[in-house]
Amino acid sequence: MDLKTDPKLDDFRADVRAFFENDFPKDILEKTARGASLTTEEIRKSESALGSKGWLAAGWPAEHGGPGWSLEEQYIFDEELERAGVPTVTPMGVVYVGPILYTFGTDEQKQRWLPGIREGRDGWAQGYSEPESGSDLASLQFSAVREGDEYVLNGTKIWTSAAQHADWIFLLARTDNSGKKQEGISFIISEMDRPGVSLRPIITIDGKHALNQVTFDNVRVPVDYRIGEEGKGWTYSQYLLGHERTSYARIGGKRKQLRHLHKIASAVPIGGNRRLIDDPDFARKLADASLAVDALEMTVLRVLSAVKDGGAPGKEASIIKVLATQAAQQITTLYLDAAGLNGERQFDDSVTADWLSGDESAALAAPGVSTYFGTRAQSIYGGTNEIQRNIIAKRVLGL
Ligand SMILES: Cc1cc2nc3c(=O)[nH]c(=O)nc-3n(C[C@H](O)[C@H](O)[C@H](O)COP(=O)(O)OP(=O)(O)OC[C@H]3O[C@@H](n4cnc5c(N)ncnc54)[C@H](O)[C@@H]3O)c2cc1C
Repeated sequence: MDLKTDPKLDDFRADVRAFFENDFPKDILEKTARGASLTTEEIRKSESALGSKGWLAAGWPAEHGGPGWSLEEQYIFDEELERAGVPTVTPMGVVYVGPILYTFGTDEQKQRWLPGIREGRDGWAQGYSEPESGSDLASLQFSAVREGDEYVLNGTKIWTSAAQHADWIFLLARTDNSGKKQEGISFIISEMDRPGVSLRPIITIDGKHALNQVTFDNVRVPVDYRIGEEGKGWTYSQYLLGHERTSYARIGGKRKQLRHLHKIASAVPIGGNRRLIDDPDFARKLADASLAVDALEMTVLRVLSAVKDGGAPGKEASIIKVLATQAAQQITTLYLDAAGLNGERQFDDSVTADWLSGDESAALAAPGVSTYFGTRAQSIYGGTNEIQRNIIAKRVLGL
């Protein structure tokens, strides 16, 4: 795949860039640049801005209301989205459950859920992990017992990202205990505000509320909230892992961070006369990180160019997940070196854009600590890096 020689792709890139520069809500970009968390309302505003343009469900085929872009166009779109500093699209709706719904759902289910997802009106959460079931997800105990035309849901999900912003949650639930552990799991949806659903925030090391524990106590949902066949939920849940893991690459965002790091390190430190960029050790680490992003980009393009029409990346996506995590952690560690005290500023919401605009390198460093802590978790979510290395060894290298 060569993105640099096709004039049609250049035009496409220019259109996307113009939209982000001129038409995307500026207040959302400003808040995100400070590293501050968005409210539920702001997330809807950000995602609806993409949805109303038909660009939120960027990977969906046209027949389900997506733009029907090629993989090259999707790649360019993601690069431009990150270059502009648009908040990461909540993946649980458009990237995870949407494709499962249009692939395995009934017409009525598609009608019920797809429009709200692709237009950015509804928030979704992913209820897979449980307190005792993470890497060994198939051991999950969350239960769905059928009573007439309803399921009664009981159990606890944990590490549920963005559940406080969600209207809906998709769940892996055990409907049968008799066979192999992967069998007897069903894929079931619930509203977050059904009687019996409760949510406990989990505050992470950066002081943010991004994660939750969600408990279901005798929650009743209609049987037609189950997607596909009863007992086949494991198959559906695995369906899009290739896309999910490839989506972690975020090349555009990493290149932007490298540019920012260069700027921050090139500013003369207050009270000193030596620039960080002149420190050979820092300069070498910055060059290493830049090479890691180049290598990651080549790997992403190699994996994507092997994907057949309409398909998903295969087990090679695990290589991308590991490389992307390493590059992200490398870059954000440099932020800590470069940001100094400015790296803590995002904790203080009183720091306004006006204040920050007086000192560009302080403004760029502001989300430093937050992004550092955020990327530590990347080696855990989406399947830990140890598990990815097992997959690479067994399924990619055949060892
Ligand atoms: C920021 C964040 C967001 C998340 N969001 C969601 C979400 O929205 N929805 C959701 O359902 N889940 C979510 N998760 C949960 C995530 O998927 C799990 O944390 C992850 O799968 C690991 O499970 P665990 O935490 O139970 O760790 P464990 O499975 O207990 O693993 C502990 C350690 O043992 C290692 N290990 C385990 N088994 C093996 C093995 N076979 N070989 C080698 N090493 C092994 C692991 O790599 C890890 O280092 C999120 C997690 C984080 C950190």
